Amino acid sequence: MDYIKSCDDEIGDALYLELNRQRRNLELIASENVVSPAVMLAMGTVPTNKYAEGYPGRRYYGGCEHVDILEDLAIERVKKLFGCDHACVQPHSGANANNAVYQALIKPGDTVMGLNLAHGGHLTHGSPVNMSGLLYNFVPYNVNDQGFLDYDEIRRQARECKPKMIVAGASAYPREIRFDIFGDIAKEVGAYLFVDMAHIAGLVAAGLHQSPVPYADVVSSTTHKTLRGPRGGIILCKEEHAKAIDKAIFPGTQGGPLMHIIAAKAVCFGEALKPEFKAYQQQVVKNAKALAEAMVEEGFDLVSGGTDNHLMLVDLQNMDVSGKEMQKRLDEVYITVNKNAVPNDPASPFVTSGIRIGTPAVTTRGLKEEDMKTIAGLIKMAVTDFETKSDEIRRSVNQICEKYPLYV
Ligand code: PLP
Repeated sequence: MDYIKSCDDEIGDALYLELNRQRRNLELIASENVVSPAVMLAMGTVPTNKYAEGYPGRRYYGGCEHVDILEDLAIERVKKLFGCDHACVQPHSGANANNAVYQALIKPGDTVMGLNLAHGGHLTHGSPVNMSGLLYNFVPYNVNDQGFLDYDEIRRQARECKPKMIVAGASAYPREIRFDIFGDIAKEVGAYLFVDMAHIAGLVAAGLHQSPVPYADVVSSTTHKTLRGPRGGIILCKEEHAKAIDKAIFPGTQGGPLMHIIAAKAVCFGEALKPEFKAYQQQVVKNAKALAEAMVEEGFDLVSGGTDNHLMLVDLQNMDVSGKEMQKRLDEVYITVNKNAVPNDPASPFVTSGIRIGTPAVTTRGLKEEDMKTIAGLIKMAVTDFETKSDEIRRSVNQICEKYPLYV
């Protein structure tokens, strides 16, 4: 970064500001993580100069023999990690991956079931403002009043609307998702099962969440959340869909792949195949459980009462503060979260009645269960004594962040 600053002072300054923010703040956004120096450095390497439209061994440009090695390694490693037949490592992002899956398997106007955005689903699972919702006839399913997926109700809906595809997966669902039951429902109604495991991919890789691979026709993921790689996407599928999936990414929805990012994905998959990665994911889950328990002890309501994975959804309606206000207050005391709608939220999506909290990034930093108790106490203080105790909260956050330094 010093070198960048010596060439471009303004960009160098902005990069240092962001590095210092990441060092100073407790990062509790559930979809974020902190990549290793090897992943970080791989992103800034020479394949960024290379055009490589096509796939290894069948490119539309010359000079691809070495980037082919990178892409082949990424494919081989991710297949080993998740035990799938076929992998496409070219999607630029999770959203791109999902668009390509729809393009590969269904036609505009087809009926698809996906988890309602307001109940924890993702924009690309049929939100009316997203291309998925504009092109396809999405029928949303919800969580029940206790905040859990109700598989009997999902089955009933599927029998009624006879979808061509069922999408399972979420952005804000704190409980285990039973992909085996989704598989059974999809089979019964003759639908494809498409699982978007973006949030939980790291847990799946470590064997801490049921894998969707045996049950789904196609699985997509981001590589930058619990999986702790560069920003990007992947698609895994059964052999019968391999051609259609590859075609839907290139030439269907993308041009040249980002070969430097594919190099970083390969490094990430290599890291995820090591035993230390499993220990890391175990700690992510332990920290989430500890934080959830401590939040409940502090009087917070959690959607579904707790968590099985890396995140929790805090319903702030009993605390008389909105999600928007809470996100703002926590930003001011160097704790980063995002406002999030809770199921049946009376507030608008821009205000919300909840916040989503996750442990992947702080766990990478080294925080443990006892730190989670401290953090829950600080979040409570930001609700009850924000005006008088914000300096005290900031001091405590500083202490934790100094204890667990970032990128030293
Ligand atoms: N799918 C899920 C479940 C997500 O939570 C997200 C991002 O938050 C995405 C897809 C989209 O990923 P990206 O931001 O890389 O497009």
